[in-house]
Amino acid sequence: MDGGIYLDNNATTRPLESVAAAMTSLLRDEYANPSSVHRFGQQARHKIECAREQVAGLVNADPREIVFTSGGTESINLAIRGILATRPDATHIITSAVEHDAVRNLAIRIAREGRRIDEIDVDSDGRLNFDELAGAITGQTALISIMHANNETGVLFDIERVCDIAARHGVLVHVDAVQSAGKTPIDVKKIPAHLLSISSHKLHGPKGVGALYVRKGVHLAPLLSGGRQERDLRPGTENAPAIVGFGVAAEEAAGWATKGDETIGRLRDEFEARVTATIPAARVIARGATRLCNTSCIGFERLSAEAILISLSERGVYASAGAACGSGALESSHVLAAMGVDSALAHGAVRFSMSRFTTVSEIEQAVEVLSRVIQRVSEKVK
Ligand code: PLP
Repeated sequence: MDGGIYLDNNATTRPLESVAAAMTSLLRDEYANPSSVHRFGQQARHKIECAREQVAGLVNADPREIVFTSGGTESINLAIRGILATRPDATHIITSAVEHDAVRNLAIRIAREGRRIDEIDVDSDGRLNFDELAGAITGQTALISIMHANNETGVLFDIERVCDIAARHGVLVHVDAVQSAGKTPIDVKKIPAHLLSISSHKLHGPKGVGALYVRKGVHLAPLLSGGRQERDLRPGTENAPAIVGFGVAAEEAAGWATKGDETIGRLRDEFEARVTATIPAARVIARGATRLCNTSCIGFERLSAEAILISLSERGVYASAGAACGSGALESSHVLAAMGVDSALAHGAVRFSMSRFTTVSEIEQAVEVLSRVIQRVSEKVK
């Protein structure tokens, strides 16, 4: 880290030292192809299978239900496309109005290919409309794909309730758990989702690796054609160093997920209390909803999030806009728009996301810096 205060953990997290050490060993020494039958290859295979157990442990799955992928985006694509390919007669998918682009843009494509997509609304605090969800299911519905935690606001959807509604109609459920895995407990023995996407770099593992949980008995078609790796679901030589790093991170995260609310959550609450006490114009978005312990989305009316972020960055505080920042320019947030957040507030929405490494002193300093930045940016717009 460059000495700054990193409050952008929903974008990505710092890899653990133990992750880097485990990966280095595979990169330097244990480089054999895990599909090779010789002992050297089987050592790498053994490491991958240990990682599979570690990742399965994070969500209380059977290791045979874990498929390694290149990350959250691929897991989501494999889940949704994989189900559709096995059910050409099912023409309808349900999702929400606040999904990550990985789901949203895939849904747009699928709609262009002739399938019907329904996006379920949320209320002003970002909570899912369950009546609308239940009413949207038809005989043609192939899948409900819903996020567990929102990446912009941290709002947690009641996945158990989604699964209950789906089960009454015999519909499959895919959960995008990219933001929630490792921050809040997930138990697939209790939440009967059929598919669940996880990403390593959101839980202190390396980038470019993730997993799809596929419940036993659920049939999927692979996205790619090739070798027989990952039980025929994900061909190609495994990225063993990344998978092993992911395993180490997942094992550590499993312990943290249960104490997120009382550790990181307390910090987040302290941060919000201080911000709203020192900056009267600050509005905590989705405050009324059940939220992920680490996320705080704060709107500053009539100010530009971009100006705030640049000014914060100059002073060593790293955060993100509520909106996605794809090509360098901020686009307006579909999440905040779906919540009906006034555009003057949404335009000035900044997302602060903490981790288990965030300290009280960092929070105190960040609030001081933020308060000066808001004063400065406000003076400019006067
Ligand atoms: N889903 C959510 C909710 C996310 O926040 C992200 C990444 O920010 C993704 C999916 C995509 O994950 P990945 O970066 O591993 O492809």
